[in-house]
Amino acid sequence: MDLSTPLQYVKGIGPARAQMLESKGLLTVEDLLAYAPFRYEDRTNVKTIAQLAPGEMATVIAEVKSAHLAGFRRRSLGLFEAIFQDSSGERLLGKWFHGGYLADRFLPGLRVALYGKIELDNYTGDLLMMHPEFEILSTDDSEGDAALHTGRIVPIYEAAGKITTRAFRLLLHRVLESLEPLEDHLPPAIRGQLKLPDRWSAVRELHFPLPDADLRLLNAFRTPAQWRLIFEEFFWLECGLSLKRAKARVEPGISFELNDRVREKIKAMLPFKPTGAQKRVLKEIAADMQAPHPMSRLLQGDVGSGKTLVAAEAAVIAIENGYQVAVLAPTEILAGQHYLYFKNLFQKTGYVVTLLTGSATPREKTQLKKLMSAGLVNIGIGTHALLEEDVEWKKLGLAIVDEQHRFGVMQRLRLASKGQHPDVLVMTATPIPRTLALTIYGDLDISVIDEMPPGRKPIATKHVTEDRIESVYSFLKKQVDSGRQAYVVYPVIEESEDLKAAEQMYRHLSERVFPDVRVGLLHGRLKTDERESVMEAFRRGEVKILVSTTVIEVGVDVPNATVMLIEQAERFGLAQLHQLRGRVGRGGEQSYCILVTGKMSDAGRERIRTMVDSTDGFYIAEMDLKLRGPGEFFGTRQSGLPTLRIGNIIRDQDVLEVARSEAQAFIAKPPTPEDLRRAVNYIREHWQRRYGLVQVG
Ligand code: ADP
Ligand code: MG
Repeated sequence: MDLSTPLQYVKGIGPARAQMLESKGLLTVEDLLAYAPFRYEDRTNVKTIAQLAPGEMATVIAEVKSAHLAGFRRRSLGLFEAIFQDSSGERLLGKWFHGGYLADRFLPGLRVALYGKIELDNYTGDLLMMHPEFEILSTDDSEGDAALHTGRIVPIYEAAGKITTRAFRLLLHRVLESLEPLEDHLPPAIRGQLKLPDRWSAVRELHFPLPDADLRLLNAFRTPAQWRLIFEEFFWLECGLSLKRAKARVEPGISFELNDRVREKIKAMLPFKPTGAQKRVLKEIAADMQAPHPMSRLLQGDVGSGKTLVAAEAAVIAIENGYQVAVLAPTEILAGQHYLYFKNLFQKTGYVVTLLTGSATPREKTQLKKLMSAGLVNIGIGTHALLEEDVEWKKLGLAIVDEQHRFGVMQRLRLASKGQHPDVLVMTATPIPRTLALTIYGDLDISVIDEMPPGRKPIATKHVTEDRIESVYSFLKKQVDSGRQAYVVYPVIEESEDLKAAEQMYRHLSERVFPDVRVGLLHGRLKTDERESVMEAFRRGEVKILVSTTVIEVGVDVPNATVMLIEQAERFGLAQLHQLRGRVGRGGEQSYCILVTGKMSDAGRERIRTMVDSTDGFYIAEMDLKLRGPGEFFGTRQSGLPTLRIGNIIRDQDVLEVARSEAQAFIAKPPTPEDLRRAVNYIREHWQRRYGLVQVG
C-alpha cells in the first residue's frame, strides 16, 4: 500500500464503501489521510459512574439498562430517556429531546460511550447527562477494539454514507499502521525556519493526537501538527499560483503605447477629477497595459467607488492604440447601463459603442457581429451573448469583465480567447480580504479603489418593521416632493408568487399611496424595450418612484435617487442588501436606505443589524463570509475557489498569509535550483489533481 493506492483496494473497504468515500472526494490513501477530523474529544478521563461528580465533563462507558420514549405522541418530538449502568453498579440517566430516532438503537444490553456534562436530575436525584455525545461500542470487531475509541483523545469525523466516525477511526488507524513513513516534501529550509514537525508525525497526530495534546489547541486546529498540515496545503497552493502567474507574466502580449496624445484624450473625456485612488489604480493598469505581456488584473472597489470610470480610461488607451474593447456584464440591465455610460462618456471622442445582448433580434445580432469582426466597433458591450462562438473581433485588445463574482473563470478565459492575448481587466464590488482575494482570484493581480468620490454623504440606514410602513411612505413622499427619487425593492425568490406580490405592491403604491406621483415597475419578466423605457424614464427623472425586483441590484446609476426602500429585507442576503444600498448615495444629497422587515430568523436579524451598523463593504463581506461560510459565499467551484482539505479559508487566514509570503519568496528565490525543480514536480503530480484548477509550469 502506498499513497496512490485506490481506497477500494484497501483492506476493509471494498467497492460499496469506496463509493461512499468517493462521495466525499476520497479516492486514494492520500485523500483519506487528508480527511481531517472536524473535532476532537477527550476520552482520557473515563470514569465509572460511581466516581462522577455533578458539573464535570466526563466520559463513561456503560450498558443500556432500559430506555423509553416519553411524553409526546409524535415520535420525533418525544423525550427519550435511557438508564445506564456500569461495573460500579451505579445508575446514570441520559435524556434526549426529539430523541425518537434513538428508540430503535438503544436496546438493553448495548454498550455505549457517553460524553457530556454531569448534572443532577431534579426529580429523582439521579446523575444525569443531557444530550450526551455518544458512540455505540458494538462488539462488531469490524470497528476495531475499544482502545481506539475510548481512553484517549479521539478524533470525530464527519460520516460518509454508512461509514461512521468509528469506522473512519479504524480505517485511518489501519492505514497508518501499514504505511511506510511518509516522505516530507516541504523544502527543508522552510521546515527548519518555521520549526515545523515532519509530515509523517503531523499526519499521525492529526488523526491520533498524542496523550498530552492540548484539547483546546486541537479543536482550534492550532497544534504544531495541524498548523503544519494547514500551512503545507496553503503553501503548495500558493506556490502553484505563483508559478502560474510567473508564467503568464512572460507570455507575449500587447504593449500599448501611452503617450501624451493618449493622455490628452483621457483628460478630455473625464467628466470630473478622478479621486486619488482612481488615479493610483489607473497607473497600475496603465503599467500593465504598456508591458508586453497580457494583463490579468482585478479591480476591486466598493459599490459606487467609480470603477467604471477607470475602466473607461483603460478603454481609451486600447482604442487609441487601434484596438477594440469588449465589456462583459452579467445582466441586460447592467449591460444597458454601461452602454449608455460609455456612449455618453465617449460622445466627443467619436468612438463607436455597441450593445449586444441575448434579446437583440437575429438581424440586429448579425449586423452587430459584422461590425465587430470588421473592426468598425471600438467598444462592444454585452451580456453572455458576447461569449457566443460566432462573435469575432478584428483586433480585440482589452477585455473588461464587470462583477466578476457573477462569472466563472472559464467565461473570463473565453472572452479573452477572442483576441490574441488581450489584456484582461475584471471588476468586482464584492470586497474580500486581500490574501483571500489573491487566492481565490489566484492568477489575477489586484488593484483596490479604497476611496469614494468626493462629496458623498454616508447613507443613513434604518430598520423599520412592517407595521410602521405608513411612516416610511410619508417619508418617501417628502423626498419625492423635494425633487428626489426612490427605489422600492421587492424580493423575488419564488417567481410565481413573489412577482405577483411585486406587481400588487406596484398597483398599491401607484394607485393608493402615491396617486399623484409617477411610479414605474421594473422586473425581469418585462421585455427589453419595456424595461429600457422604464429605466430611461427613471433616469430622466420622470418616474419618481421605481418599484423593482432585484434586477437593479448591480450597476444602476441614478445620482438623483436618494431612497432605497427594501421590502421584506430579511429575505435578502447581505451582499445583495449592500449592493442594493449602493444604488443610492451617488449624488451630493443625503441618502437613505430603509429596511422593512416582517418576521425574522436569527440569521436575518444578524444581517439587518450588520447593515444598520456599517456601510463598509469589507466589513459586510466579512460578516457575510462568516454567516454563510465560504462555499456559499463564493458560489460554485467555477468561481475559482479551490477545494481545501484541512485548511479553512476563514479560520486559517493567518496561516494563509504566512504560506503565501513563504511560497512567493521560495518561488522567486529558491534555496537551490534542485529545490525548485522538486517542488514543481511535486505540485505537478499532486496539486493539479487535488485542486483540479490550474495548469502549472
Ligand atoms: P462602481 O461601478 O464602482 O459601483 P461607478 O463607476 O458606477 O461605481 O460610479 C459611481 C458614481 O460615481 C457614478 O455616478 C460616477 O459617474 C461617479 N463618479 C465616479 N468617479 C467619480 C469622481 N472621481 N468624482 C465624482 N463622481 C465620480
Ligand atoms: Mg459598477
